[in-house]
Amino acid sequence: MALIVQKFGGTSVGTVERIEQVAEKVKKFRDGGDDIVVVVSAMSGETNRLIDLARQISEQPVARELDVMVSTGEQVTIALLAMALIKRGVPAVSYTGNQVRILTDSAHTKARILQIDGQRIQRDIKAGRVVVVAGFQGVDEKGNITTLGRGGSDTTGVALAAALKADECQIYTDVDGVYTTDPRVVAKAQRLDKITFEEMLEMASLGSKVLQIRAVEFAGKYSVPLRVLHSFQEGPGTLITLDEEESMEQPIISGIAFNRDEAKLTIRGVPDTPGVAFKILGPISAANVEVDMIVQNVAHDNTTDFTFTVHRNDYNNALQVLQSIASEMGAREVIGDTDIAKVSIVGVGMRSHAGVASRMFEALAKENINIQMISTSEIKVSVVIEEKYLELAVRALHTAFELDAPAGNTAE
Ligand code: ASP
Ligand code: MG
Repeated sequence: MALIVQKFGGTSVGTVERIEQVAEKVKKFRDGGDDIVVVVSAMSGETNRLIDLARQISEQPVARELDVMVSTGEQVTIALLAMALIKRGVPAVSYTGNQVRILTDSAHTKARILQIDGQRIQRDIKAGRVVVVAGFQGVDEKGNITTLGRGGSDTTGVALAAALKADECQIYTDVDGVYTTDPRVVAKAQRLDKITFEEMLEMASLGSKVLQIRAVEFAGKYSVPLRVLHSFQEGPGTLITLDEEESMEQPIISGIAFNRDEAKLTIRGVPDTPGVAFKILGPISAANVEVDMIVQNVAHDNTTDFTFTVHRNDYNNALQVLQSIASEMGAREVIGDTDIAKVSIVGVGMRSHAGVASRMFEALAKENINIQMISTSEIKVSVVIEEKYLELAVRALHTAFELDAPAGNTAE
């Protein structure tokens, strides 16, 4: 008998019929002898609908009041699911974040969980009840309702699993697991049976949006075994774990991630003196712009070209900052490019295999794709390329690293 935390996202509880289906699923696990704690999101579209209401009153609604309002979405689904369970003869009880006491800091709309009191839940479990907890919300020390940021129910699920020392945290969603890459881009993408937290973090931060990044970080930190599964299809899903298996069949690369959300900026011909990088990136970070990749190289005339990428939403802001410092720094010019994309190969197998990067560059060269920037970490190699070649690049790399599904076994 195991204690399992099951989290169901917005589409999985998007209609009353679906909530009934979720109740059936929970009942099945419980009939099998497991103790179950369920975390649910608001019905799909509900959080957006609520935020839109607030925007009709004020363009920048007060964060505290926004939290009071958006937390209602989850309050509806916990009650409906508890009712659906009770109707099926399964004893169940629902709790808001405040009632469990999911204690957070006071950063409204992006609060962090500080502590969870699992006692009440433990008592209910002992009494044979399924406990249904509202995702995405908590309460601060003063009793104000807080929320954890969009997609925050994943984090609630993982945090509860950690606090209750659950055997597994299952995230039910509208895909049947984590894939080697986006199946909409590569029909031969395959579901992974297993992936490590580290790899998952890289995949998630690079735009594979199956799980909220914070939830993965949390699960890694507290060693909560995490499984991504389809809400309404049977299947093993993908297990996200700590252990790195060294098996013969283990591919070197676990997945190909990509991201179209970045833009590139270059400040050219800056006299190369100590402090250049700081003089450029200091004002950028003061403008609250986060920098991702950075490349700097010195030319024979002792000037340097400094290139970096930022989120596309920050592009105009960053460009303005660069233009304002360019003349003062004696730079030749500032140029920007929004038609770029970042492609990365991710895999813990890289640690023990040489030549992975060159195999990547070879595959791109064969397709005549120019690499504009490169960055590497222990388990990742990323390149920036022209956006129009993104899909071609992802497909080429998927094949080059032998990730393609065998014929007749594709997502198409
Ligand atoms: N309902 C919240 C949102 O839409 C939280 C969640 O779904 O995880 O962002
Ligand atoms: Mg979600």
